[in-house]
Amino acid sequence: MSVIYERVALIGLGLIASSMGHAMKRDGIVGEVVGFAKTQETRETALKLGFLDSVAESAADAVIDADLVVICVPVGAMETVAREIGPHLKSGATVTDVGSVKQAVIDVVGPHLPDGVHFVPGHPLAGTEHSGPSAGFADLFKNRWCVLTPLSGGDVDASARLRGFWEALGANVEIMTPDHHDLVLAVTSHAPHLIAYTMVGVADDLSRVTDKEVVDFSAAGFRDFTRIAASDPTMWRDVFLNNKEATLEILGRFTEELFDLQRAIRRGDGQQLHDYFTRTRAIRRGIIDAGQDTDAGNFGRGDGGAK
Ligand code: NAP
Repeated sequence: MSVIYERVALIGLGLIASSMGHAMKRDGIVGEVVGFAKTQETRETALKLGFLDSVAESAADAVIDADLVVICVPVGAMETVAREIGPHLKSGATVTDVGSVKQAVIDVVGPHLPDGVHFVPGHPLAGTEHSGPSAGFADLFKNRWCVLTPLSGGDVDASARLRGFWEALGANVEIMTPDHHDLVLAVTSHAPHLIAYTMVGVADDLSRVTDKEVVDFSAAGFRDFTRIAASDPTMWRDVFLNNKEATLEILGRFTEELFDLQRAIRRGDGQQLHDYFTRTRAIRRGIIDAGQDTDAGNFGRGDGGAK
């Protein structure tokens, strides 16, 4: 494969950055990768893992001369990073991010980037419940979606080049407006995570009554919830704080439907329950047919689901 960017800077060296680094190195799609993370420990681990050529002592140092800068920190830390790197970016460089929320990131990052630097926000819909530099693997993005939300009036060539970069990492790229992205993700990822966190919290409360039975006899449905509810607390706190409106809108609708089903159970309305479950089963089939999950016993989640 040919080189798409000569020098890439990864700011934040966790699951997403390390997966990008491994894929870039394996496929030779960039010349050099330099990285920075907040702690010395993460920087040293990342260097040992070999998905970078070097680590810098600051975010500002890391972006010097970089053609592509990828901000891979939790959404709540993006403004700090943008403020720090802004004055040190090379003219003509592209800055992107991988944050799970788009409008809030655009609002806080955009103002810190100088003229002549191209900002193309992004979000790979791929992840696992694991975090940190050791959690990454080169195939994380294979056949997963990556959403780009280019700014209106932004540089078309910079977006096209970034698109080619994500495709080279194995992803399928979709373009959306930031608001649309935030609503879609509230439905497909953010609200489901909150529901999983709640379900596991309820079971935890219950386990005090039932002497660990919840853990010992945990059935597939609950086990799936616990996997999702094991996701990184910092990342998910930031997602909810920064995609407030869309998440609350979806949770409002969810609550209404839940009450409706609750009523059907109380009334013994088997027809309503059966019709509802038949409709939802078809959605599952559609996801498998689209290649976004498998019928495997572990639900194909060893390789990471969409986040
Ligand atoms: P992660 O594994 O927890 O890694 C986060 C990294 O950010 C760590 O290396 C951390 O450094 C670094 N960091 C935090 N604050 C920083 C700062 N102020 N300056 C420099 N580095 C800082 O996180 P992740 O799962 O890769 O997620 C990163 C981003 O991707 C988030 O915005 C998330 O919303 C998005 N995303 C996540 C997933 C997923 O499933 N995990 C999927 C798609 C998108 P230290 O280790 O030194 O603290």
